[in-house]
Amino acid sequence: MDTHVEELIPFYVLGGLNAGEMERVERHLPHCASCRTLLEEMRAGAEAVPYAAAPVRPASRVKQQLFARVEEDLRVPHSAPQPRLTTPRTSFFDFLRAASPALALASIVLFLTAVAWALSLNWEVDKLRALNRSLAAQVNQQAAAINVLGRPNVAVKNFEPTQVQPQARGRFYADFRDNQALVVVSGMKPLPDNRVYEVWLIKDKTPVGVGTFTVDANGTGQILINAPQVIGSYQISALTEEPQGGSMLPTTDILMASNF
Ligand SMILES: [Zn+2]
Repeated sequence: MDTHVEELIPFYVLGGLNAGEMERVERHLPHCASCRTLLEEMRAGAEAVPYAAAPVRPASRVKQQLFARVEEDLRVPHSAPQPRLTTPRTSFFDFLRAASPALALASIVLFLTAVAWALSLNWEVDKLRALNRSLAAQVNQQAAAINVLGRPNVAVKNFEPTQVQPQARGRFYADFRDNQALVVVSGMKPLPDNRVYEVWLIKDKTPVGVGTFTVDANGTGQILINAPQVIGSYQISALTEEPQGGSMLPTTDILMASNF
């Protein structure tokens, strides 16, 4: 069997071989499983780089092999360069290869590591941005809730539970001359992911859905309501369980109701 072509494979993957070297690699690969495996690993790494959404790391075996070869190259003096038949090439990697194969290999590893690092930082920043947005939304909700509670004419109404969830408790806070209200509940049954509780305001027996919410594992939850008309123009508020996204009209029995 001819000699291995491991040292050429990174450049083969990156398209940096001359015709003679290319031929050598292509003649050798069909007979050598270990060089084919290395090729697959390098190719997977190189292809993943421009498209990756998650950090890419070369297989640790590849990295070990590359570093091992780098060390070897640094120890053993190189044989005289072979005469070149092709025209001189000017790419960065070619320049490095001519200067030192070890440096060229090290620079590929460094490049892949830098790309992986940049991608993982990018991912981290995206995650923090999303968290920041969600916290900002929560703070806005809390500020609006405090605003409702702090109005000079705020009134409190109790929700009365029905037989469906007799342990449920709830309060309805609003300035009845305003459109905003805060509903706070406790003792309600936690729901599966595809179900929500919906708040209704009822005027002359016509219910209007004004928002959906879920409760935590302890059964507590709260929701800020923006009603289409001032709260004082409705006679009742009621809660039902509905599919996620809410319903146009109540589809289940009333769980709690408050008469204004
Ligand atoms: Zn081989």
